[in-house]
Amino acid sequence: MAYSLNVCHLYGDLMNTYGDLGNILVLKYMANKMGVELSSEVVSLDQDFNAGKYDIVVFGGGQDFEQSIISQDIQTKKKALTNFIEDDGSVVAICGGYQLLGHYYIGANGEKLLGIGALDHHTDKQKDHRFIGNITIENEETGEKYHGFENHQGITFLGKGERPLGKVLEGHGNNGQDKTEGAIYKNVYCTYFHGPILARNNQIAKHVLMNALKRKYPNADLTQQETLKVTPTF
Ligand code: GLN
Repeated sequence: MAYSLNVCHLYGDLMNTYGDLGNILVLKYMANKMGVELSSEVVSLDQDFNAGKYDIVVFGGGQDFEQSIISQDIQTKKKALTNFIEDDGSVVAICGGYQLLGHYYIGANGEKLLGIGALDHHTDKQKDHRFIGNITIENEETGEKYHGFENHQGITFLGKGERPLGKVLEGHGNNGQDKTEGAIYKNVYCTYFHGPILARNNQIAKHVLMNALKRKYPNADLTQQETLKVTPTF
């Protein structure tokens, strides 16, 4: 195949609560249809994140316990991950992964888990409550609607340079107050949607793949890739 992309499945062995691995399978399937070979590997505890090696990072969701372990380990990868993001690397971050890209997450037991602050959001705690259920949002730039299922205790507030992935039409989203859901910063897509969200929201997968291709092959004619038809979100 003419093009290739390499995915880092960040903490893929620990942050895979609802089958987040499915996102990599969807990326691979769609990439192949675009004539792009896609490979992936897990980078986990005590391993370096080599920013130069990857085009896309997928960081899944997880429980507070796993997050407390990762919160410490990820500090050793903070610089490389931040550089990757600032250098327009593509990221898909879900729930717990989304929280740890921000400044901090307060767990259900009140413990403050540090994130890497690569994005300017922070996540506080709800009092004895979780947001659980179906959610529908609309991205106000593209008009695309995304559907998912949310299950989170944390409430997230966006910061500088971040815009929401979408406006909440049904469900709770980031915090149940300001109608925002998820975050977009540069080529980073964050969401509280659970698990293999790209299977249900092909448009997001296509944005992620196209952004990664444009970054890696700035002079290539990617018209054929742009024409890949995506299944309408259901
Ligand atoms: N443990 C976090 C919370 O409850 C993240 C949950 C998740 O990844 N779904 O908010």
